[in-house]
Formats: sequence, structure tokens, C-alpha cells
Amino acid sequence: MSELRAVLKGITPPSDEQMSDIKSFLEKKYGSDIVLAWEDDKTIASGFKLEIGSVVYDWSLRGRFTQLKDALADLPFSNGQIIPLIKDMVAGWTPQALAEEIGTVVSVGDGIAHVSGLDHAAYGEILLFSSGIRGMVQDLQADRIGCILFGDEQEIEQGDTVRRTGKMAGVPVGNDFVGRVVDALGSPIDGKGPINADDYRPIESPAPSILDRQPVNKPMETGLIAIDSMFPIGRGQRELIIGDRQTGKTTIALDTILNQKDNDVICIYVAIGQKASSVAQLVQTLRQHGAMDYTIVVNASANEPAPLQYIAPYAGCALGEFFMNAGRDVLIVYDDLSKHAIAYRALSLLLERSPGREAYPGDVFYLHSRLLERAAHLSDEKGGGSMTALPIVETQAGDVSAYIPTNIISITDGQIFLESDLFFSGQRPAVNVGLSVSRVGRDAQTSAMKSATGTIRLDLAQYREMEIFTQFSSDLDDTTKHQLIYGQGLMQLLKQDQHHPLKQHEQVILLVVALAHTIKDIPLDKISEFNSALLKYIEAQAPYISRDIEQTGKLSEENRNSIIELAEDFQKRVVEGKARLG
Ligand code: ATP
Ligand code: MG
Repeated sequence: MSELRAVLKGITPPSDEQMSDIKSFLEKKYGSDIVLAWEDDKTIASGFKLEIGSVVYDWSLRGRFTQLKDALADLPFSNGQIIPLIKDMVAGWTPQALAEEIGTVVSVGDGIAHVSGLDHAAYGEILLFSSGIRGMVQDLQADRIGCILFGDEQEIEQGDTVRRTGKMAGVPVGNDFVGRVVDALGSPIDGKGPINADDYRPIESPAPSILDRQPVNKPMETGLIAIDSMFPIGRGQRELIIGDRQTGKTTIALDTILNQKDNDVICIYVAIGQKASSVAQLVQTLRQHGAMDYTIVVNASANEPAPLQYIAPYAGCALGEFFMNAGRDVLIVYDDLSKHAIAYRALSLLLERSPGREAYPGDVFYLHSRLLERAAHLSDEKGGGSMTALPIVETQAGDVSAYIPTNIISITDGQIFLESDLFFSGQRPAVNVGLSVSRVGRDAQTSAMKSATGTIRLDLAQYREMEIFTQFSSDLDDTTKHQLIYGQGLMQLLKQDQHHPLKQHEQVILLVVALAHTIKDIPLDKISEFNSALLKYIEAQAPYISRDIEQTGKLSEENRNSIIELAEDFQKRVVEGKARLG
């Protein structure tokens, strides 16, 4: 066995009495074979440091102050209590020989450092490198630790020292984050100066338990008629937006954020692995529509290291939890989790974990389930706040049975499936009505919306079937013709321009009109224009209708009849050339 060596460091050597104290301490702890050496260290202002291998006992002035600070931080106190508390503490305080572990960098590269000598570091703990860069423990092995880096790896060299911090990775959170663009560590990147944090939350925290939750019962309106009518989303729900590239996924999430204006909802948009220019564009759009007043953007662009892309959604979620726990309603968008999974795959392969299906590591399901489970509608005892999650997933050639899409479909409460063919044929938002579903949102729909939507899904399904049947026949009977025109009208109704969310009452009016087969004489390509003109007409003629619907959430029989009558009137006027569209 090699002999054990302890090094005592400081400026002034210890007195004989101190030396014998230290020796007896060492003998008790490590046996009598230990050799004690003295070393001058100018960095220690007063007191000593004792190093035995990777373990350090810090009796220096700075070390003792750190201990005092940590001890204070653990106490729950208010401002009025703090002075007597500190006096108490200082009077009765004796510094403990707190062990500090120091490790060494074995290798570094690709955003990852392997460290040896930190025997007690925990999974998820933050490590501090001598150059000041931080990292998070992601892999524990017998002889070394794999650590992902949150800074420039160029500044870390083999042989550098690494300290444990004993803290789990976290982000600052607070009210002042609203309106800001931050990176995955919560630091501002919008050039608007530092942000005052109210608190610091771990990025990973357990999801609310069943007892702390209540059923989804309030709607989270997207403002998109194709979604709110057929696939309603409730506050606290997790609804996946899935589709190929460039099918309008981001636009749906963005429009939903725009629609939360005046709804008292805090929105968080987490951009993972996107082009910085796309995110800048999106922030610009949010600003233009006044939506940055209630939105936080968390960005980890494609050019940032994989570790930051990996933690970005958890950091966003921690921010969301801060507001949810304060009783607020939160909407969080993860755009997108395919890129998140890819960043995690890169990390895992570098950490030498064995690859599984599609080269993803075995725990990629847990990667997303532990994130999405944190969306919740809290019980009233817990403040009644909610966090609604809209994860986005990109598919390849519409393949929803690939690994990541199937995983996330099984974790969420439904999906909005977007289709390239629809998108390119001009049907936007390109929602595939047959493949989309919302499992809990119906409970949250208002009664006005429920009664207005009626049989729209069924009618659309029938229309699609009939459309295929009649594709090749030119000679159609009148009922079939009517059915086709009606179905085409419905498809037109579902078309909506981007950044033009519709309010609940507007959707209800348009649905009532369309489902009552009212529009027969308007050419298909004019229906969108007709609809927006009709909304203005009804608002001018009978403003009480929108008021009733918004205030009561109900659609009375009289109002329904008035809507249909007014629509028929307006149609007649348009056909006769008395009213103009646009
Ligand atoms: P990516 O795969 O690149 O992330 P995406 O699926 O998020 O793409 P978007 O960026 O939302 O798609 O939309 C693609 C393009 O289609 C954008 O230029 C957007 O402006 C346009 N677009 C999306 N929805 C609509 C709409 N309802 N009306 C008109 N244009 C739309
Ligand atoms: Mg997108």
C-alpha cells in the first residue's frame, strides 16, 4: 500500500499545539501511517487548508465564511429575524471540518469532460472547473464521471481541477423574465440588461402528484377554428403538434400564443436546435402583435452546444412552474422535441452509452415523459394554476410510427396532425381531421362551442368519403351535389390566415352558419371573404350576440336563430349586389 500523504497549506505555519491537534485528527481518521507536510500557499489569507488525496478540509477564512453563508441559506427566515439570527449564529458557531472534493479533468471534447477523483458527485450535480466554467454530471462510472459542459470547452484543459458544488442544476426564475429572451441557463440574450430573479429553481423536479392535480376543465383557446371546434385543448393538457417539415407547426403554436392576449396567460416558447434567424423572426412577430408583454422565449439555437439544447426545455419548464405554483395559467411550447432527442442522442453517444433503436439511448422515453408530466392543472389547495404543454415533433415523410413520434404520442393527451399535401393544396392550417385527436379537451369546451360544433367531424368524414367516390363521375344527383358543396364549404371554413386568431364568439357564429347549410350561393373561393364580412355585419346588426356568448359561454336558441337569419339576409344582399365583400 502506498503511504498516505496529507498536505497542510497556509501562510503562517501552525503553532506546535495546532500541529499536534491536526496530527491527532488525522490519526483518528486515517491511521498512524499518515505523513503530514507543510506547504506555503499565498492564496489562503488566514487559516489552513488540509488536503488528503481528493479530500480537502477547509479551515481558511474564506472556507469558514462559505460555511457560514451556506448555513444561513438553509434557514427559513424573514428580514426582521435575520439580525438576531446572525448574532446567535456567530456567537455559537464553530467551523466544521467540511470536506471538499477536488477532481481532475481526464479528457475534454465535444461539450463533454470526463473527470476523475470526485467519488461522491451525484447525478445532475453542478461541477465547477478551475477556469470558471460549469458542467453537469450526466454519467457515473467506477473510475470517472462524465460531465456535460455549459460553456466553451476550449477553456478547459486536461489536468484542470474540478470542484463539486453540491447543487443541482437550476435556473433563476421570476416575474421579470416576462417579455425577455433568455438562453438555456436563464441568462438574458436580448441585450436588455440583467434580469432580477425572485427565486432559483432546479431544472429537474418531480411532476405534481395525482392528489395535487384536478381534471382539465378550462379551455386554452388556440383561436384556430380547425382546432378549437374539433380538438379543443384544456388548461393543463399536453397536446402534440406533429407533422413534416414546413407544414405550419410553429405557426399553430405562435398563433395560440397571440390568441392569449388579454387572457392572463403567461406564454413560454422554448426553441431547441433552430436557426437563430428563425427565432429572431418569431420574436419579432410576437413583438409586433404585442405578445411579448406576456411571453418568455428560451432559446438554445442549433449552433449552441448539445448540452444547452438538452437542458433548454427543462429550464423553460422550471420557469413555467414558478408561475404555475403562483396560481397562474401557463402555456409552454417546446419547438421541437425531435431536435431535443437528437441533441440528447449526441450527448449519450459521446458519453459512450450503448445506442438502441435509431441509435437513441434506452432512456429516451424517460427524457420526454419526465418533461411532459410536469404539465398539470393544480388542485385548488395548490393554488389552481396550470401549465399547458404544446410539444412539437417533426416527422419524416409523414411517418408517425418512427421512434420519437410514437413515444411522444403515447405521452401526450392527443395530437394535431399536420399534413404536407393539405398544406401545399392551400388548406392551411393543414390539420388532418381524421388523424388528429384531443383526449381531455372536450370537457373544457364551453357549452356555446359544444353546441355550435355539432356534427362537424362526422360531416367532414362523410364529405371526404364522398369526394373520393365522386372523383371520376361527372353526372351527380342533386343531393350528392349539395353534400359536396356543403363539405367544400366546411373545408373553406377551416382555412385561416396565419396570425389571425378568431375569438370564441366569432368561431361560434361561423360554425352555426356553416353547419346550418346556410351558405349555398357564395362561390367557394369567396367563402373566406364572405365569412369575415359576415362577422362584421352581425356585430353591427346584433352586437348583443357576441356579448352573450363571451359572457355566459352559452348559445341560446334565440341567438342561434338570429345568427342564421342574419346570415341568410347578408347572403341575399351579397348575391343581389347590395353588400360588398372585403
Ligand atoms: P419547420 O419544419 O421549418 O419548423 P413548420 O412546420 O414549423 O416548419 P412554419 O414555419 O410554421 O412550419 O410554416 C411554414 C411556412 O408556412 C411559413 O412561411 C408560414 O408563414 C407559412 N404558413 C403557416 N401557416 C400558415 C397559414 N395558416 N396561412 C398562411 N401561411 C402559413
Ligand atoms: Mg417550426
